[in-house]
Amino acid sequence: MVHFSVGLSTQIGRVGSISKWGNAQLTQQTPSFMVYTRSGHIPHLTWEVVDTQLRLNQTPIYQMTLPSLIEMVGQIAVYKGDARGFCGMPRDSILHLSVLDPLTDRKVGYNDTTTVAIWNHTGKRSVSVPSLIKWCREMEVNSVDSLLDYEFTPETTLKRMNKAVDRTNQWLESIRCQMEDDMGVIACAGGGHSGQHRRKMAHYISSLEGTPIHSVNIDLGGINMEDENTSDLINESINPLDENILRICQGSFSPVEISLLLSKGIDIFDSSWPIKQAEKGIAFEVSAEYPIDSSFSTIDFTLSTLKSDHTSPFPSCKCYTCSKYTRAYLTHLCNTHELLAPLLLVIHNLTQWDRMFQLARDSIHKHSN
Ligand SMILES: [Zn+2]
Repeated sequence: MVHFSVGLSTQIGRVGSISKWGNAQLTQQTPSFMVYTRSGHIPHLTWEVVDTQLRLNQTPIYQMTLPSLIEMVGQIAVYKGDARGFCGMPRDSILHLSVLDPLTDRKVGYNDTTTVAIWNHTGKRSVSVPSLIKWCREMEVNSVDSLLDYEFTPETTLKRMNKAVDRTNQWLESIRCQMEDDMGVIACAGGGHSGQHRRKMAHYISSLEGTPIHSVNIDLGGINMEDENTSDLINESINPLDENILRICQGSFSPVEISLLLSKGIDIFDSSWPIKQAEKGIAFEVSAEYPIDSSFSTIDFTLSTLKSDHTSPFPSCKCYTCSKYTRAYLTHLCNTHELLAPLLLVIHNLTQWDRMFQLARDSIHKHSN
């Protein structure tokens, strides 16, 4: 169960507020983002560093990624605690379990009638409805994605796509029947490049009887955001849904892509994109006019051009990294592959990501009159 209400709706985006997430009380203004984690931690940060050096504007929802956790689930069950205790997270952390990792490629051809294929360092693993429900209980997450048959590529046959829609809808129905009422079940609306199948999935979600669906994950895996028909495809997934349903888009989207998705009325994203940049040695900063001006600047610290630049990475940024360190030092850390390099870049990039959503909320309020 997710309690969400829309406040304002404009051409730039919409602002809303979340007051409950699964069985947890939460006050969060949208648009916002779930904090991406891998193996139960924000990549490159310990929970102590998060506590002392990362300042976010709102109480986070942590996006736990199943491919990175699936090998640990048995240990969490034996540990007799939940995923928070096992991973050393703050006890009151709010957890969402994502079945797919936004930074991991999907491989088509492996989903079957009862399972979805996911990949990690051990290879392919299969996720069924009963196993997903069991893991949610053992980890004590607050919300979970419903299973999605993501078998939609430009080459997929019509028959196979119809089958993917039917399976996804059946899995949603079984999860809703078997999962505890206070678990936030996020329905998945996929359909890939097929507008017809996107519409079909969204219509099914909006027609469900019984406990209404409160939140939908609009899947854009495999979709090129620069294609001219992407906007229409997103509309096919959104238009059949009730306006008060929380719209989630998980994936590695740049600030420019986020601004397009905001204008479509998407409410929640994740922070995989800033993590991916930090892991490439790149820091970014968005314009103060975001999202009206969605351009952003970057610094690539793997290049040696900044090795004598003793200024702050981004002088107007108030994060721990920009307050303490210079461009020259970060260039040195990146070029000597020091573990401190991604740590400092993750702190900066997440601070900027958080600022970007604050700017978006402020801008929607400002342009609502
Ligand atoms: Zn900074």
